[in-house]
Amino acid sequence: MPLPHIAGHQEVRRRLAEAHRAGRLPQTLLLTGAAGVGKQRLALWLAQLTQCEAPGAEPCGTCRSCRQVLTLQHADVHWLVPIPRPKAGDADRQVDEAAEALGSVMEERRLHPFYAPPDGMASHGVASARLLQRAASLTAVGRGPKVFIVGDAERLVPQESSPEAANALLKLLEEPPVNSLFVLTTTDARRLLPTIRSRAVPIRLGRLTDDEVRDFLAAELTPAPTASELEARVHRAGGSIGAAIATGDDTKAEDAAHSVLEALLAGSGPRLERALRQPPWSARGEFSALLDAMADTLGEAARGAMGEKVRRPVPAGLLGCEPQSLFRALDRVSEAREAAYGNVNPQLLLSVLGEDLAAIL
Ligand SMILES: [Zn+2]
Repeated sequence: MPLPHIAGHQEVRRRLAEAHRAGRLPQTLLLTGAAGVGKQRLALWLAQLTQCEAPGAEPCGTCRSCRQVLTLQHADVHWLVPIPRPKAGDADRQVDEAAEALGSVMEERRLHPFYAPPDGMASHGVASARLLQRAASLTAVGRGPKVFIVGDAERLVPQESSPEAANALLKLLEEPPVNSLFVLTTTDARRLLPTIRSRAVPIRLGRLTDDEVRDFLAAELTPAPTASELEARVHRAGGSIGAAIATGDDTKAEDAAHSVLEALLAGSGPRLERALRQPPWSARGEFSALLDAMADTLGEAARGAMGEKVRRPVPAGLLGCEPQSLFRALDRVSEAREAAYGNVNPQLLLSVLGEDLAAIL
């Protein structure tokens, strides 16, 4: 099954297509924007544009190269997503394991193009970086450049015991092989290593309009949603197709994040203790997902507190907080997110975080 059609971001697409036509496309791009607005989909669109056999203002969508990109089968387009850490001890076997893991993620995406965010503990480890180096050393098969898409690039884990993964990618970005294009995506550029950030040209993707989300859902959802279901999804989306297609499992972390933040605002006490003791946080992946959801919620609340339009549900109490406090809280959650990669007890980390946030907010 080919990927669903690309929605929105017309102006960015127009600028990128123009740059490509003029031969001025930067060799390393960093796409930032809220979760689910289509950053990796746009990266694949860009890959299509560079490979298309009859490119115009948009990739033609029908030539062999375009179809190969859209079915994730193009030999020169490499899409890296966070994967679980390989288990093998031997470095070469780790790379093989990473290749296999990525292969099965891509196979899954071919079958089910609407994918959920990666598991909280999945990352771009050393093995993935080596895999990327290996692919980068090969000559392009087709007429276009080799394209490397690194989704959720903040998951390059410099805080691991060894910084090799990030360093390997850095080396590639410092001296990109000729005829290659790197597209990194992240929801929060501040979470990327500054050395990586500084080598990429940033492009910010805004939220989609309700009309864009509605048109996308009407065209892509099967079975077709009823009118009221469609409106409910558009409302929940807040400009993010990822949020519009999220299932109950995906919203679990967001619900939990809201209950923790609401309990924090009510002050320390039995309610907070209860919220912090919700059962799933013993599982590391779900714990990371909770922290991500807390960061998303605090970020959205900070925008709301600064008078910008809030596009996603946020606990009402947060909107009354000072923006500076919300940003400090956000930084504190990001620190906890990094610590969560290490060998710490999630329950303990969350209780310390809870105390800190209660003091900040
Ligand atoms: Zn084409």
